[in-house]
Amino acid sequence: MAISRKMEESMSRSSWIRQMFEEGERMKQIHGAANVFDFSLGNPVLEPPPEVHASLIRLLQSNHGLHRYMPNAGLPGTRQFVADELSLQSGLKFDKTDVVMSVGAGGGLNALFKAILDPEDEVVALAPYFVEYGFYVDNHGGKLVVAHTDKTFQPDLNNLDAVMTSKTKAVIINSPNNPTGVVYSRETINQLGAFLREQEKQWGHPIFLISDEPYRNIVFDDIHPGNVFLSHPNSVMVTSHSKDLGLAGERIGFVAIHPDMEDRKALQNALVLTTRILGFVNAPALMQHLLPELKGVRISSAIYQDLRDLFYDALTGMGFKIIKPHGAFYMFPESPVNDEIEFIRQALTENLLLVPGRGFGSPGYFRIAYCFERDKIERSLERFERLAQFYGL
Ligand code: PLP
Repeated sequence: MAISRKMEESMSRSSWIRQMFEEGERMKQIHGAANVFDFSLGNPVLEPPPEVHASLIRLLQSNHGLHRYMPNAGLPGTRQFVADELSLQSGLKFDKTDVVMSVGAGGGLNALFKAILDPEDEVVALAPYFVEYGFYVDNHGGKLVVAHTDKTFQPDLNNLDAVMTSKTKAVIINSPNNPTGVVYSRETINQLGAFLREQEKQWGHPIFLISDEPYRNIVFDDIHPGNVFLSHPNSVMVTSHSKDLGLAGERIGFVAIHPDMEDRKALQNALVLTTRILGFVNAPALMQHLLPELKGVRISSAIYQDLRDLFYDALTGMGFKIIKPHGAFYMFPESPVNDEIEFIRQALTENLLLVPGRGFGSPGYFRIAYCFERDKIERSLERFERLAQFYGL
């Protein structure tokens, strides 16, 4: 075998979303794209806000040298822009050196894990969790440890306490959450911060609170996510504009370090180096030039809230059990049968593509992504209705 055993094993572990993708492609060939309802991927169909293209055109017409190498941490003006925004949101004083621009949130998380993990160090994720965390932590020699959330998908401090060890280097949270759509309140984040400070005392070393928050600006019902920078000095935010500006393919994000972190200089320098030696060199130049032009510009959450209302109301009306999502564009309903793979297979007979919960560390559930055209969701409902009837909901 030409590829490594480790990669072979990783490929088999990542197979659920891939299998769904391949199945979707096969079904589209047979039934036509309009008759296949692929809710498996969180790849939004919304175009970026009009200001994005207008600013890009302006930039391209009026500037030179937009495409060159730059300092590994990013353009100083863009880092300052991000630092100023973070200062405004938190009331803390961020400096541009606290910000390192990244290749999306995924690139930022890899740069961060490479910077903080020694072999066998543990990172705790709260299940259900974004499946790539396991791979990202493993990329840098660490070990992902899982603590389950409670029945409403909120952090459960008892479960968290049970998995903390002397090797715990970080806890990673994601709010608004993929795959559940739940949002952690300010109180919840404060409780997490207090918990981690206790743990730091117990184990005698810093424990990072990593907040992966590419969906922070996609929230509904006037609910706002808590801010980790107000709860724990050893916190790091990793985010991107993949979702809130609809720029997923352009790969622009950043890592921000708490301005009161004791070792922040060392972490800043480490991130500059890891960005370089992971081969990113720097985050995409054109997107970095663009960001300061887009102050306050975001995709409208109202569009996703409308889709959430449509889908959530219809499915719960049919008898599906779902914790109501307040952000992002995912729902994580309970499977009507214990083995959600059986349910996923039954859904395929209706040309519905969904992802099994075990792909997120939580069997017995399934994920629906609803970042698609309203019409597609509306046309899918009769199919969900037949599934509900099939399972006697
Ligand atoms: N974190 C979560 C929870 C995500 O859902 C995603 C993308 O779907 C990412 C990180 C990666 O985002 P990016 O496209 O910015 O790398």
